Order: sequence, then structure tokens, then C-alpha cells
Amino acid sequence: MNILDGKALSETIKQEIAVQVAEIKAAGGKIPHLAAVLVGNDPASQSYVKSKVRSCEQVGFNSTLIRQDDSITEEALLAIIDDLNEDPYVDGFIVQLPLPKHIDEEKVTLRIDPKKDVDGFHPINFGRMAQGLACYLPATPYGILQMLERNGIETSGKHCVVVGRSNIVGTPMSILLSRKAKVGNCTVTLTHSRTRDLAAETQRADIIVAAIGIPGFISGDMVKEGVVIIDVGINRVEDASRKRGYRLVGDVDFESVAPKSSFITPVPGGVGPMTVTSLLLNTLKASKKEVYG
Ligand code: NAD
Repeated sequence: MNILDGKALSETIKQEIAVQVAEIKAAGGKIPHLAAVLVGNDPASQSYVKSKVRSCEQVGFNSTLIRQDDSITEEALLAIIDDLNEDPYVDGFIVQLPLPKHIDEEKVTLRIDPKKDVDGFHPINFGRMAQGLACYLPATPYGILQMLERNGIETSGKHCVVVGRSNIVGTPMSILLSRKAKVGNCTVTLTHSRTRDLAAETQRADIIVAAIGIPGFISGDMVKEGVVIIDVGINRVEDASRKRGYRLVGDVDFESVAPKSSFITPVPGGVGPMTVTSLLLNTLKASKKEVYG
């Protein structure tokens, strides 16, 4: 069993980005600039945004954090997005989800200029991804692709079972792994809450991507020997022994699955840090106008 250390790999990639930023600076070019909009006080969202801003500082990007109270109207939030779309200093921006119930997330996503949509959530970027055109890949699947590539994990001809069909993880992951690409060429089965015999599917998998949101859902008896496990889940479970009263666990029961696996991502320290790094890579592409010219 080998641990896929997302924390270490993300640090390596960040160092590579920092070198590129230093070169841009030395040549008198424009420093990449990422903006993040955070609405409300959801602790998980606050911690994700904090880590995104900290990562920008680490690689030498400029960053702007726009914090708004959860009473902000949809109209006012859309006006902020319009301003960011027009701001020549901002190369890319994200609106941290989830948003308060009175705000339509779809409307917000659609309002972001696809050229600045470094989260890769806009349907234009999604459609371009599905057709193999230049686009911003959604950050989490992008991070997973890099993890597979940089760890030399062969995907071609492999049977991959993706569990969960969200627009930000499961569905794009299933498309990306089935594409004709360096990391791709998998035979993919996309499973979800209505899948009849999930264990029968996962037991046949060479690679499992779990993005469900249920702690420890994939257990050792559901996987075959030598499986590659990508655990996307980030779940808080109560833990009185921890100072903050909880710990983070994935969607995979690490204890029973790890001994059967050839590679496995830990939670925390697996997919999570790679997601943040991918956002930086997309922002760098935006500032270099690599995707849309
Ligand atoms: P989601 O929460 O939007 O949807 C969950 C998916 O799981 C659905 O498609 C549903 O069909 C499927 N599902 C639910 N119950 C199931 C069952 N019993 N059997 C099979 N499938 C079932 O999904 P999401 O937004 O992709 O989030 C999934 C998890 O990944 C969450 O824990 C989230 O916090 C985490 N996440 C992590 C990162 C990261 O950077 N590591 C990024 C995004 C999401």
C-alpha cells in the first residue's frame, strides 16, 4: 500500500508555480491575481477560502478576499460578480459555495465570465471540458488527474468506478477519466444513490473515486486487492479527544480499505490540498491568457 501524499505534491507544484511567478515579476509582467468571494460564516467555507488565500501568498500571487454578510441580496452579489468580471487586475475569481438559501447558485455561476471562471464550474467550461477543448478544468478533478499522473499510475484500459455524480466532482471526473488523453482512456462506471448493487460495481474497480459525503462509506469488503483509491470526501465527525471537537474523515474507511489497496489518498492531506493547487494553476493560465487567448 502506498499513500498518495497530496500535501507534499501540492507543495512541489506550488514551488513550481512560485518559480514561474518570480520569472513573470523579473520580466516586469503582471502578477497573477485571484479574488475570492465569501458569503456568510460557514466554518468549512471560511477554512477553504483561508487556505486558498494563504496559498496565493505562498506562490507570490496577488489575492483579494471579498467578505459579505449572509444577508446580502442576490442582486448585490451579482453586482460584485459584474465588477470582478470587468476588473482588469483580477485574472480569475471564485464564489465559495454553498451560498445562503435565498441566493440562486445557478444564477451566480452563470454570471461569472467563463474567462475568469477558475473553479471551472460555468457550463461553458464544463462543455469545453466534455469536448476536450481548452478550458479551466474543475479544480478537484484537475487535482486528481495530476495526482494520478505524477505518481505514475496507469489509467489506460483500467476500470474506474466513480461514486457520486455531483457537477463539481463525480460527473466531471467520469468524463475526464474516459477521455482519450494522457490520464484517461479508462472504462468508467458512474454510480450514485440509485445504483442497485454498489458493492458489485466497486468490487470490479481498478480505480475508485469516492465523492459521496458519507464518512467511511466505502469499506474493505467493497474493494478488490490492488485497487487505487481516491477519497474525495471531507466529513467532520465529532471527536471529543480533539481540541476543536471534531476530526476530518473521508468517504472511505481507511482502516479496512488501505491494506487491500495499491495506492490510497489520506484524508486530510490527499485530494484537498491538490484542489487548492489546481485553482492556482487555473489562475496562472488565466493570467497568461492560455485558455481563451
Ligand atoms: P454532493 O454532496 O453534491 O453529492 C453526493 C453524491 O453522492 C450524489 O451524487 C449522490 O448520488 C451520491 N450518493 C449519496 N448517497 C449515496 C449512496 N448511498 N450510494 C452511492 N452514491 C451516493 O457531492 P460533492 O459535492 O461531490 O461532495 C462529496 C464529498 O466530497 C463531500 O464530502 C465534500 O465535502 C467532498 N468534497 C471535497 C473536495 C476536496 O477538495 N477534497 C471538493 C469537493 C467536495
